Amino acid sequence: AAPFDVERVRKDFPALHQSVNGHPLIWLDNAATTHKPQSVIDATSEFYARHNSNIHRAAHTLAARSTDLFEGGREKVRRFLNAPSKDDIVFLRGTTEAINLVANSYGRANIGPGDEIIVTQIEHHANIVPWQLLTQATGATLRVIPVDDRGEIIFEQFAALLSGRTKLVSVTHVANALGTINPVAEIIALSHAYGVPVLVDAAQSSPHIPLDVQALDADFLVFSGHKVFGPTGIGALYGKKHLLEAMPPWQGGGHMIEDVTFGKTVYKGAPEKFEAGTPDIAGAVGLGAALDYLEGVGLPGIAAYEHDLLEYAQAGLAEVKGLRLIGTARQKASVMSFVVDGHENEAVAKHLDAHGIAVRSGHHCAQPALRRFGVERSVRASLAFYNTRHDVDVFLKALHSLPRR
Ligand code: PMP
Repeated sequence: AAPFDVERVRKDFPALHQSVNGHPLIWLDNAATTHKPQSVIDATSEFYARHNSNIHRAAHTLAARSTDLFEGGREKVRRFLNAPSKDDIVFLRGTTEAINLVANSYGRANIGPGDEIIVTQIEHHANIVPWQLLTQATGATLRVIPVDDRGEIIFEQFAALLSGRTKLVSVTHVANALGTINPVAEIIALSHAYGVPVLVDAAQSSPHIPLDVQALDADFLVFSGHKVFGPTGIGALYGKKHLLEAMPPWQGGGHMIEDVTFGKTVYKGAPEKFEAGTPDIAGAVGLGAALDYLEGVGLPGIAAYEHDLLEYAQAGLAEVKGLRLIGTARQKASVMSFVVDGHENEAVAKHLDAHGIAVRSGHHCAQPALRRFGVERSVRASLAFYNTRHDVDVFLKALHSLPRR
């Protein structure tokens, strides 16, 4: 394969070419959201400029076009995940809504008093709170796989938690506050030995690691469009067909029905029965364009390039006086979370912003993960394939120039 050409891909992202506070923008907030290539912006505006219609194919020409574009987006998601059928793909607002759908539909139908749901200690709140709401409603219990000092899950403790009471395992593929890549294939294999289905939160892995739901044998997998260079407000749930077919709807309305009387409603099959109301049609089109773009650049090449860049950046961080990296897993993607002795996280982020460098400071919606390392907040820099060694050098130089205390 040709070597990864970062200067070429950078040209595709208009937002990267601007000045912030008098400096060229350096975007290191990719774990929060990613910038959009021109092709995504064009596909979205073209949709509104020319095709815009609700998705009721039979009505008229524009409706047929919109429906085809929307369903074309679904097929692109299917291909991105290597799902067996595009009917296994449900469009939702994003990862958060997808997990809430599984908790409300699958969860309420299959989980009861005394049952257990297992998550890890390093989940995003989106993979904690929906399960808490479910356990409160059903009398089930949430169990937590702990992580070690590197931020790697302690696999033996996971094995010890699995039992006949376990009804679902829901784990992140890449931890958003630490960057740990969890061994999801091993987690799935062991869970299946107990007959337990697994949900994979791929919000942070989808921009960095090739995904294959069939190779993983994932039961559910969820991700957000805005983290894979697509629009906000759109994301997807993959579910195995037999699971989706057995699951009840969770929201009612138009688009999801076969027949309605005041006495009884007959629902459509999956995925429509989970897509009540007018969906984000332009979002689905934009997401499809983003996945086309990613396929064109090639995730295997992206993964190799980013791995090298992350090693380079982490080696540089180790040279910054008083800096403590939080999350030193042997397998990591994108994320560098840290605190600097004698400096408020907020002040570090502001200092970087004054140099045109965007990072996040805060709890990253993963409070239990940070508390495991004795901190409430951290500074988080996160890489994407459009970042360069130059970006990292400027970032490190700015950290070295933090005002002395
Ligand atoms: N899970 C993980 C691991 C995440 O990083 C995020 C976003 N930060 C989410 C879930 C929630 O995604 P969204 O806000 O797009 O629904």
